[in-house]
Amino acid sequence: MHVSEYWERQKWDWDSTEYTGVSLQIGDNKFTTAKFINNRLSLSLAELERTHLFSSHYNSFGGPAVFSNDMIRSFYSTMTIKDEKGVDHILVRDFLESRGYDESIISYWTDSLIRNFVLQPEMQDGPLSVVRKNNTVFIDLYYIIKGDAADLNYNGVLSHLHGEGPYRDFVAQGFKLWEDTYFVDGQEINAYVNLHEKAESHKKTQKYFTIDISRKSGTPSVSLGLFRNWAYSYPGNMTIRTGIKDNDDLEPDYVMIDAAHELGHILGLGDAYDVVKNRWAPRSREDNYNRSMLQNIADYGFNIFSLHGKDVKQNYLFRGAPLNSVPKNDIMRGGDEISDFTFKLVLDGIKTNEMRHYPKR
Ligand SMILES: [Zn+2]
Repeated sequence: MHVSEYWERQKWDWDSTEYTGVSLQIGDNKFTTAKFINNRLSLSLAELERTHLFSSHYNSFGGPAVFSNDMIRSFYSTMTIKDEKGVDHILVRDFLESRGYDESIISYWTDSLIRNFVLQPEMQDGPLSVVRKNNTVFIDLYYIIKGDAADLNYNGVLSHLHGEGPYRDFVAQGFKLWEDTYFVDGQEINAYVNLHEKAESHKKTQKYFTIDISRKSGTPSVSLGLFRNWAYSYPGNMTIRTGIKDNDDLEPDYVMIDAAHELGHILGLGDAYDVVKNRWAPRSREDNYNRSMLQNIADYGFNIFSLHGKDVKQNYLFRGAPLNSVPKNDIMRGGDEISDFTFKLVLDGIKTNEMRHYPKR
């Protein structure tokens, strides 16, 4: 089933009958007055008025702030409803539509009879969106692939395999490793990864992150740039290194694992390495043999000073290590499995919109 069809079918699946409570969050605003009125999700107008969501509307009409609150109220009057006490509530769906938000970026799910609704406005046309619709999670990635190795094949210097590739496909396959069933907070969750490489014809407002697939050897990374924090609207840019330049072609399986790990950073996760030495241990005897001592030393030096993510620096400097809750083979711990714990951190991001770090020992 095509994803957009799925969304069509799930459209406003906001039936209230089984739930006792509602939790509504739009951006950083966590509302306390949300409730269902006639099965429709609503929010008190007074609470909405206290947020920038409401007041910024009239600025978007284009003129200076010449509209009074009353005028704004009258604009919204067609989408308000009174609760049983006669208090004005705004219909959340109508309000969001009027603000131009696509319902595809609205997450909803149920925890212990509480119906949760979360919308992160910056997911709209952003390079990354993570949206939960009940027990299905859609990870949508919008990216541009560049780099001198993107269209090159793996030529298996040591294993004598030839012509597999190109590398851009291994990266895409690595992203798809996140498609799995996870068990989070007592619920089974199916995750899908939708890849949207920038096409010739594309939506003008859509933003992309870049994936640089390089011929050089070295450690893959996600770079956020100086003084930038992770956000859905700015998840960083990825570099994948293939080693082709040194006749040291990285095997497809390793590229996939690298891509999956780096996608973890794009999704806002820190690293979970135990100690820094684990990170640069040779991946295999062949791998070790294939790299010269000098290259190993150069990689090591390079890696220490280009650590991607605040927490890995701290892990290195302070020998912090994750708790046992993170499986040893977790993708963010240098392994090749995406654990339930890691996926839970991804889901937490829907609410926090901040980088999530693994616990320290
Ligand atoms: Zn990492």
